[in-house]
Amino acid sequence: MNCTKHPNVPAVAQCSNCGAGVCTECAEITEPARESCGVLCVDCYKGELERTITSAKKKNGKRLTRVLISSILYLIGVIAAICGVLEIMDGAGDGVPILILGIVLCGLYTGLTWKKAAQDKHDRDEMQNGATYVITDDGIYKKDAFWLKLVYFFIGVALGVIMTPVNVIRGSVTYAKFKKLIKGMQKELSALN
Ligand SMILES: [Zn+2]
Ligand SMILES: [Zn+2]
Repeated sequence: MNCTKHPNVPAVAQCSNCGAGVCTECAEITEPARESCGVLCVDCYKGELERTITSAKKKNGKRLTRVLISSILYLIGVIAAICGVLEIMDGAGDGVPILILGIVLCGLYTGLTWKKAAQDKHDRDEMQNGATYVITDDGIYKKDAFWLKLVYFFIGVALGVIMTPVNVIRGSVTYAKFKKLIKGMQKELSALN
């Protein structure tokens, strides 16, 4: 059997995806995907590379959105908190509500993430053990873990006040790293075409 891409060169392996003959040169080109996909021919490797690029791009886009939303909320929160503190020091008006609003805004994104985690936990429990119900004079209500979600939300907010800047920095660094990786893969792909 000869290499499908290089008809005069004997194949050393078969593509694990399409069965095409793969020569030493082709095997070297597709080496980066060896561990996850086995030996690939160049065409299947290109397809694999395209899929990887698409999903990495999508993930990185979501990462950037997360970073932007949480940093914008944090910024507004800090401004509100400072306004609240200034008003309290001024003694003119009641700055406490705006201070609290500022703190909640700072941690809002993390709070919502934690609330979602509580919802997921509740859904899992419901699936495993069945739903639970409360009977009152007004009727029967399905328990929706309201307090659990509220507690999780506020734990998230409290953590978010401290953790958001760290997460924003970490998220931005990861975003830049993946952007570079994607660029490298795109370069590799266009070199193959
Ligand atoms: Zn193939
Ligand atoms: Zn070949």
